[in-house]
Amino acid sequence: MRVRARAKINWTLDVVGKRSDGYHLLDTLMQSVELYDTLTFEPCGELEFITTGAARVPSDENNLVCKAMNLLAARTGVTHGVRVILRKRIPIGGGMGGGSADAAATLAGLNRFWRLGLREDALRALGAEVGADVPFCLVGGLSRATGIGEKLEKLPSHRPAYLVVIQPCRGLSTREIFQLFSQDGLRPNQRPMQEDAVAAAREGDLRRLCRSMGNALQPAAIRQRPEIAQAIQALEMMGAIRAQMTGSGSAVFGVFETAYGAQRAWESLSPIWGRCWTTRTASRSLVFRGWMN
Ligand code: ATP
Repeated sequence: MRVRARAKINWTLDVVGKRSDGYHLLDTLMQSVELYDTLTFEPCGELEFITTGAARVPSDENNLVCKAMNLLAARTGVTHGVRVILRKRIPIGGGMGGGSADAAATLAGLNRFWRLGLREDALRALGAEVGADVPFCLVGGLSRATGIGEKLEKLPSHRPAYLVVIQPCRGLSTREIFQLFSQDGLRPNQRPMQEDAVAAAREGDLRRLCRSMGNALQPAAIRQRPEIAQAIQALEMMGAIRAQMTGSGSAVFGVFETAYGAQRAWESLSPIWGRCWTTRTASRSLVFRGWMN
């Protein structure tokens, strides 16, 4: 059985408070995009995990796939084994939620592979233990997430927006970026117009959504990694309606109305930036292929 685990972008990301345990409270509008990792599930006597592809990710307990697999096995007391093979394509440390998408695919995939019959709310609760973005990756499409990212309000997906994604530099860790953000205080000009963005997203008004976009973490990220600002500028010069950092960075995305516009921008930008992809927004995050569909 094979599952495609799709990445996400943050149309908006606002930091609205801090919990007593130090976690930041967010208000963010997220959407799945078609960039994906592939997870293959094969029968095996034990719990096994293998990574393939050029990208370097941990192949032990530190991988969110392993965490999700071990958690599910422990909680359900399942006695079967499985071999999970992860092929990475999603940029690592890009703020595109690749690890979370893989964890979500592991939970949903093993629920089918082992015929556990867990309902979505049970999977989401387990996902929240693995990572704050995992519940979103189980639900996918377009959602507003609040709390530490676990409270989800699903919105209808309209026609896709075409994107060019650039990862201009190595990312900062999520912890580092929130530390910098806390030192910085809020920069009002970078905060999204959240309610306006949600209304625009509901209506499928892409231009209005682009006017309301914003990522409160972006100024702190740019101070440490000026390449992020350069990539944003390059995307807007190549015709993007708007460009912005996703999540805690370092990847940025430019928004285009047509596939043609995105393709032309990609052709000009990829020789310069190297780590550059075209993709489009999607209405779901996990795509199942194979015998148990
Ligand atoms: P987010 O948007 O959720 O903050 P991200 O896109 O910035 O995440 P990821 O690529 O998901 O970052 O992962 C960041 C770190 O997590 C990596 O440096 C890697 O060591 C570790 N990691 C654990 N499991 C995975 C995985 N399956 N894929 C990628 N990274 C993983």
